[in-house]
Amino acid sequence: MSQNRVAVVTGSNQGIGFATVKALCSDFEGSVYLTSRNEERGLAAVEELKKIGLQPKYHQLDINDESSVLRLRDYLKDTYGGLDVLMNNAAILLPFKEGMSDDIFAEHACTVMQTNYFDTQRACKILFPILKPHARVVNLSSMLGHLTHIPGEDSVAVNLRAKLASPDLTYEELDSLMHNFVDAAQKGEHTKYGWPATGYYTTYIVSKIGVSALTRIQHRDFERDSRENIVINHVHPGYVSTQMSDYKGVLTPEKGAVAPSWLALLPPNVQEPKGAFVWCDKTIVDWVKGPMPPLD
Ligand code: NDP
Repeated sequence: MSQNRVAVVTGSNQGIGFATVKALCSDFEGSVYLTSRNEERGLAAVEELKKIGLQPKYHQLDINDESSVLRLRDYLKDTYGGLDVLMNNAAILLPFKEGMSDDIFAEHACTVMQTNYFDTQRACKILFPILKPHARVVNLSSMLGHLTHIPGEDSVAVNLRAKLASPDLTYEELDSLMHNFVDAAQKGEHTKYGWPATGYYTTYIVSKIGVSALTRIQHRDFERDSRENIVINHVHPGYVSTQMSDYKGVLTPEKGAVAPSWLALLPPNVQEPKGAFVWCDKTIVDWVKGPMPPLD
């Protein structure tokens, strides 16, 4: 039975994804797939884990490329009859640094939103139909994806937060809000709609708020799904020393993988967390009201 179980971590040739594969190789009963958009980097990462006695498997996966996701889906279906654990970890951060132009901000808004929100969502749409009963899905959000990162008490910000927090929010409405950010960013008008002002992390923040709001909708769907007990959560892994954080994070990738891998391994018929925003210390944080725990 365990030989047919399979876990996939997206973007796992380095960083938190790599450390999560490492953790799952020890603790998940079944095959664990390290995936990467670049095959050479992925296979090198697999070799690194083999050197310490672990046995990850490998499949290419670029979430920007629909055909790559479809190939993985077909392979998993044919080989394992489905998927037991999906960790949506792949993401990019293109910081908007001082001295950059509005054009660069506009371009980053498109690129970052495409990978972090739209292509993550597309990967889910393609892979969710093959999830098996009792599957676990973990979406990597961030503390920056907490709803309170849309600041302000003016009516436009209050309304935007209310829309994103609505328990009735639909995929279409969320997509349209994310498109609204990107379109407004092209004209430098995003603050008019309540989005945070231009800064180092702005698009990343909005894309991760999108991932978190998406997780809440997906959770609602899984509650009604005919497949038993599929559980999804979104997680802040901590401020982790990886390429994304310019190696400034305070946690090692192994520590950053603790909460994501715990969520991937939640036992059958778990009552909580379900559809929850989970902090790196495994506590549940209210995504709408907070408060957020102090920084790690
Ligand atoms: P890294 O930049 O170290 O790793 C990101 C991984 O995603 C890389 O393997 C990268 O591949 C991959 N990736 C990027 N785009 C794609 C794509 N289109 N298809 C497939 N893989 C892709 O980041 P972290 O390990 O720090 O981040 C992992 C997750 O944790 C992200 O979702 C991030 O937002 C989140 N997070 C990280 C925090 C931190 O402090 N580090 C804090 C909060 C959240 P490649 O090597 O080819 O670039």
